[in-house]
Amino acid sequence: MGKIIAVANQKGGVGKTTSSVNLSACLAYLDKKVLMIDIDPQGNATSGLGINKADMDQCIYNVLVDDADATDVIVHTDVNNLDIIPATIQLAGAEIELVSTISREVRLSKAISSVKNNYDYILIDCPPSLGLLTINALTAADTVLIPVQCEYYALEGLSQLLNTIRLVQKHLNTELMIEGVLLTMLDARTNLGIQVIEEVKKYFRDKVYKSVIPRNVRLSEAPSHGQPIITYDPKSRGAEVYLDLAKEVIANGERVGERN
Ligand code: ADP
Ligand code: MG
Repeated sequence: MGKIIAVANQKGGVGKTTSSVNLSACLAYLDKKVLMIDIDPQGNATSGLGINKADMDQCIYNVLVDDADATDVIVHTDVNNLDIIPATIQLAGAEIELVSTISREVRLSKAISSVKNNYDYILIDCPPSLGLLTINALTAADTVLIPVQCEYYALEGLSQLLNTIRLVQKHLNTELMIEGVLLTMLDARTNLGIQVIEEVKKYFRDKVYKSVIPRNVRLSEAPSHGQPIITYDPKSRGAEVYLDLAKEVIANGERVGERN
């Protein structure tokens, strides 16, 4: 049965989309069947995987608001083993439209239960807020992966996210766990990055991934070519580290499995 991982942090620009796209593609490269769900109205993960939003008749909006069947909205990407449920700007209205609907927090969870068994991993790229879209992702998810940018104030705002996770655990999804904390955009030339890593490790301990994503210009170029880093520039440092991360995610899952 597929593991559902929400990639969440209400701060913008911390590497949620870059990590969702590239972790998904690297898991797919390692022969896992992967579905990416874009629930950010900006649709950056959708275009980053080469999907032309203008060509879409339906997107995740129709699944959440119009009860469209998730299967009908899934699109194959150019990456082998990787499918996506895209987001278009239409999704911008969903946050408000969902407020008055029945069981508004569990709509994503219900919608993807029918496709869960077709995949090894389902990753959800969350928007930069703690609104209903992110709540839907956390309610649908088995675990949450938190990207944290290696910069001053890295931990700022995380207590709000952790508080939201606690509330979801209490009221909507008692099984939700933290998948891991991913340090992103490390600039190896400065001491600051090292200090931030120490600080985040003090707080999250063994939840912090050994793979730390460096600042890498190829990672920021890849989306404009509609490709994940593993196909755009497989020899780049960015590709190497996202592949290491994918291996860590798989190994961690197997360790948890052994304990059960
Ligand atoms: P979020 O989804 O959290 O808003 P993004 O993944 O879109 O963050 O990243 C914000 C910006 O930083 C994007 O322009 C992206 O291309 C760039 N970026 C993200 N990770 C890296 C990295 N490791 N190296 C260089 N640029 C990066
Ligand atoms: Mg994003």
